[in-house]
Formats: sequence, structure tokens, C-alpha cells
Amino acid sequence: MIYADYNGSAPLHPKVTEYLINRIPNGPYANPNAIHSMGRKMNFGMEKCRTICANLLGAQVSQVSFNSGASEGISHVFHSVLSDRKDGKNIIITSGIEHSAVLNACSYYSENRGYKTLVVDTLESGVIDFKHYTKLMKEHKGKVALVSIMAANNETGVIQPYKEIATVSEEMGSEFFCDTTQYVGKTEFNFKDSNVDYAVISGHKVGAIIGSGILLAKTNHQMKPLIFGGAVQEYGIRGGTQNYIGAETLAVALQAFESDKKELKRVSELRVQFEQNMKKKYPGLYIVGENANRLANTTMVSNPGIHGQAVQIELESNDIFVTTSSACSDNEPVTSKVLKSMGIDDKVGRGIIRISFCTGTTAQTYKQVEEALTNAYEKLAKIHSY
Ligand code: PLP
Repeated sequence: MIYADYNGSAPLHPKVTEYLINRIPNGPYANPNAIHSMGRKMNFGMEKCRTICANLLGAQVSQVSFNSGASEGISHVFHSVLSDRKDGKNIIITSGIEHSAVLNACSYYSENRGYKTLVVDTLESGVIDFKHYTKLMKEHKGKVALVSIMAANNETGVIQPYKEIATVSEEMGSEFFCDTTQYVGKTEFNFKDSNVDYAVISGHKVGAIIGSGILLAKTNHQMKPLIFGGAVQEYGIRGGTQNYIGAETLAVALQAFESDKKELKRVSELRVQFEQNMKKKYPGLYIVGENANRLANTTMVSNPGIHGQAVQIELESNDIFVTTSSACSDNEPVTSKVLKSMGIDDKVGRGIIRISFCTGTTAQTYKQVEEALTNAYEKLAKIHSY
């Protein structure tokens, strides 16, 4: 079986599995807010995890709050920055390649709370049009409440100029939320150096357990709780008994990435080799973001005329699991909104498949995918599905 949907959800990192195998049967379990010694022990453990995560992410300990994942973090940022503004700033700037958690938050605040959302253009490479972004920021200086642009796209893997976006946002007096869900755990990230105001991490994208996550906020005390609860829980900005097991797995997974990251160059070379081999066989093959700076693990290709979903099913019959766009929009067999915003037409869009691996991927795995994909294209070319 070859699982090639790490951008959708990563299996537990082997080190996390090993950790949990000891942790689950042996405990300890207790409410980390209780003052008995068991509770204090849990609290101590959780705070140790917070310190580990903060150090690995280049953040201060007080900037790290644990939550359930990226969608929660995104809603939390939008709610905190936009729900109760009194300074007249009424513009949100985002891009057309954002995850639906961001785009739907923008729609909510535009449709119900009087904000205007402006969308930065995307270039065909998959990178946002930085000139257009700067133009919008200058035109609306003093009115932009929030900039929300991601660090790396979940479908294409294309990396965005988020540090430069942060600099402009700061100069223009706006707050910048960067959706780092796909970036963290796949390449180096340092919160302090990035100069972004808010970032998010999703446990199930980095090999920790599902339902765990981190919100990084430059100034945590400005956050307004989405979930009300005890004042001591997550600095009072996120109520509910903390998911301390989730926090532990986040610390283990992020630590594991520290040694895995030396594999990134190798994985990136394997990906490039795979794409070149496929292109040699199929000169009409479209590689999304081919010349852009991309995450090492992500390939998105289309062989126009051969339907992506047919390819997906064909690969699945060989126990190879890919998606046609992102996991969330895979049930819509149309060109994804991300690709559309890059100007990619249906001819390419309908043929798309996404292959996303982890840092441990081997040459053998890529070889198997190459063979299976070639077989699928050969078989399906006879049918010519669109
Ligand atoms: N942002 C991006 C870029 C994503 O890829 C995802 C997940 O697919 C999310 C946000 C939402 O993450 P979660 O599943 O942790 O809520």
C-alpha cells in the first residue's frame, strides 16, 4: 500500500506511535488543572511540551496555545481580530488560493459583519501576485484590519512570500495571519523570524494525533476565546480541559521533524526526478507550479484529456492512494478554485491528481507510483474521458 495523501492527513509519525504505545496503557491521566499531585504532574508535562514546541517553532512559550487544529486556530484569529473592532478598519485582504477555513471566515465577516474582502491575484506559477498585494495594501492603507495569506498551498505545494507579506503588512499597520498548516513539518519555520502575527499548526498534518493543534499569536492576551471555560486553561483564551495527550504528540512529532528535515533535499530530488521521467513519457503533461518554489513532498500533475478521478481510481486499484485536488474538495470533479485562481482551465484542471508524501519517502515508492501512473495513462488514453 502506498499512501500519497500526506497533505490531506498524515499517518502518525512512527515516533508518535512508539510514544503512545507506552503512554496509553501506563498513563498517567488526570485533569491538568487539578491541584492534586497527579493534576500537577499532568500540568508540568503539558507545559514541558509547550516549551519544546515553542523552542522548535521559534516562538515564546506564552505565544503557544494548544487547540484542536488549524480550522479552530483560523476561526480564533478571525474572531479575535475582527469581531469587535472600534477603529473603523473594515477591509480583509486574502488570496484566491486559501483553504476554505479562511475563505469561509472571510465570507462570514463580509456577509454579516460589514467587512469588505479583497482578493489578491495569483500568478500562473501558483504564487500570489506580490505587486497586486502591495498595490491593494497601499490603496487601502489604514483600513486593512487583517491580511490572511498562507505560507504554502495544500493542493499545489507552492510556497508563498510570507515574510515579505509580513513586512508590508507591518509597514501598513495591519495584522497578518499566515496559514502555516501545510508549511510547518514540511520545511523549516521560525515564528519570530517570519514576523507574522498569527500562525497555525495542525496535529494531523505533522504526524501528531488528530484533534490536536497549536495557535501561535504574537500577543496572546489580545485573543478572544471562541470557547469559554476556566481562566487558567490556555491563558484564558481557550476553555475546556486541555488535550494534553494531543500536546504531547505535537511535541514528539515536531521534535521528530528536527531529524527528518535532513531528508528534505533527498525527497525534493526524488520528486523532481519523478516529474521529469513522467514528462519525458508524456510531453503534454502539466506540472502545477513546475518552476515555483514548492514543498519537497507535493506533486500535482495533469495529463489533459484523461480524467483525474479515473486516474485516481486506477491507482487505487493498485493500492496507491492519491487525491484529485485537496481531500476536502475531492468530491467535486471540477477544476478546483485554487487552480482556477491560477488561471488553469478545465482542460488541465479536470486531469489533475495530487501526490503528497512524507519526508521518509523512498526512490522505490516513487518508482512504483511512476509505473502505476504510466499504466493508468496508457489504459485510460484508449477511453479518452473528456
Ligand atoms: N489550512 C490548510 C492550508 C489546510 O490544508 C487545512 C487542512 O486541510 C486546514 C487549514 C484545516 O486544518 P484542520 O484539519 O487541522 O482543521
